[in-house]
Amino acid sequence: MQCNEQEAIPLEVVRKFDAMDDGDPTVPPQFSCEKCGGEMYPEYYKGLHGCEYKISDVREK
Ligand SMILES: [Zn+2]
Repeated sequence: MQCNEQEAIPLEVVRKFDAMDDGDPTVPPQFSCEKCGGEMYPEYYKGLHGCEYKISDVREK
């Protein structure tokens, strides 16, 4: 979200994060940017709880 760096995180890894995170299902699994340490948001991800996250949802607001 901060430097526009894109990182391909394997879906398997994201799912593991999602499974461990039993917090707010409206928030996608959070990763930190390797370059700037900033928050990352999935370009598109459908979570285990059926929630869909799209980066366009947060970018346009
Ligand atoms: Zn960054």
